[in-house]
Amino acid sequence: MLVADDTATVRLVLRRVLDASRAFHVVGEATDGLQAVELATSLQPDLVLLDMDMPVLNGMEAIPLIRRSAPAARIVVLSGFAAERAGAAAVEAGATAFLEKRYRPDELVARLVEVCGTTAVSSARREAVAPVMALEPLAREAQQQFRLAFEHAPIGMAVVSPDDHFLEVNPSLCRMAGLGEEELLGRTLADLSHPEDRETAAAARRGLLDGRRPSSTIETRLRRPDGRVVWALVGCSVVRDDHGRPSQLVAQVVDITEQKRAQRELTRSNADLSTFAYLAAHELKSPLQAVSGFASLLDRVHGPSLDDQGREFVAWIIDGSTRMNALIEDLLTYCSVDAAEPVLAPVALDDVLGDALAQVGREPDGPAAAAAVTADPLPVVTADAFQFAQLFQNLLANAVKFVAPGATSQVRLSAERTLDGWTLTVADNGIGIDDAHRDRIFSMFERLHPRERYKGTGIGLAICKRIVERRGGVIWVEPNGGMGSRFRFTVPDAVPEPEVEPTIR
Ligand code: ADP
Repeated sequence: MLVADDTATVRLVLRRVLDASRAFHVVGEATDGLQAVELATSLQPDLVLLDMDMPVLNGMEAIPLIRRSAPAARIVVLSGFAAERAGAAAVEAGATAFLEKRYRPDELVARLVEVCGTTAVSSARREAVAPVMALEPLAREAQQQFRLAFEHAPIGMAVVSPDDHFLEVNPSLCRMAGLGEEELLGRTLADLSHPEDRETAAAARRGLLDGRRPSSTIETRLRRPDGRVVWALVGCSVVRDDHGRPSQLVAQVVDITEQKRAQRELTRSNADLSTFAYLAAHELKSPLQAVSGFASLLDRVHGPSLDDQGREFVAWIIDGSTRMNALIEDLLTYCSVDAAEPVLAPVALDDVLGDALAQVGREPDGPAAAAAVTADPLPVVTADAFQFAQLFQNLLANAVKFVAPGATSQVRLSAERTLDGWTLTVADNGIGIDDAHRDRIFSMFERLHPRERYKGTGIGLAICKRIVERRGGVIWVEPNGGMGSRFRFTVPDAVPEPEVEPTIR
């Protein structure tokens, strides 16, 4: 037998019932009328059990096609429609019989045996029909499982009507909402929601009901009668009837107030830390300027009267304070990227590249540019122009810096459109990066080479990562064919939510 029905649970129950009867053997399942015709053609079953209301081709349209492609098959229509309404038309179209979907499983099997007569089902098999797995106990069991889960779930659960009224609520939801079951049952989910969140919840419900989404998850605030606000994660799915119409929504509600509080606290303390680091770095600058200023003065004024060792010591002081100054400047840049909310606006990346190259001191057509930087036309993206100039500057500076001694660097920038944004690539012909270090170079102070060979603070790529991530993208490095590295980062079309209150700027 081939079973054609667009509802998965109906197919499942029919297969279990019919296979258990041992009078029938289900050889295939079709989920729409067209698939029923195709499977009937390839399987040539003795019997096709056909639902009426199906997508693509309905049962009535499928009957003559099955007749033609599987002439030996009996076609039994099993439909939610009343026999008086559709039975005659189905038989006229070529169906052997029309059965309504109201039969108990054992009755259904008996009716099918009747329809198939002696030719399709041997008498021995017909005797085996008797005790069949009943549909009702199966349904009862499923109902009981749902009921137990519903009543005892540690999270809030509710059955909601398509117009948003609570039909059933569990004890956890009552506790969360601070209302008794009777009080909740008269209300709508919107009644409980914070006014600012109602539109989000309504939009999610509309999306579910019109079939655009099978389920939805939103974060919303619920207002309790005692004035407390509960943050809730609400998951919702639609239950549909045999005709695909939404009949109920099943909602799960998780109290995430504590997580929200912890998240806010963490964001705030991160912002505080960034501000602290920024201020500390800033405060360190002036004593450092004094040290380096006086060291230079000492060198200039008293250098000639110092012996070699004295001059060497002064040189070390100057070198140390120069390095420390670079570190402080990079730390200040990192902190300002970290703590300030990006100012997003359309930014032409060609212009950003121009600014970055000017900063790196290597205009594309500038005189004696050590690095030949070439670029494909770059897109306009929504970004913080200042931060992106910094990002390009750091990547370009590294691309021209990390070349083998004596080699001339060649850097190429390109942009690739993806489904949801842009991927930018800065490719160089430099010394490359060992596989093992690809992730760690994006962490603070991670450097792979001694300072004597390549200068740097180890903060540049950490700044790049922070800029890209705050814009909602990702950054990574991969080998550039056999030579050098390709630093790549994404700029999604979607703009992320603001992270923290701006503390700097
Ligand atoms: P810095 O350049 O100040 O040392 P970064 O954070 O910019 O610090 O880079 C971290 C490390 O990653 C560098 O010290 C270097 O070892 C490695 N690196 C960065 N860019 C490249 C590149 N284009 N080619 C090879 N190695 C690189």
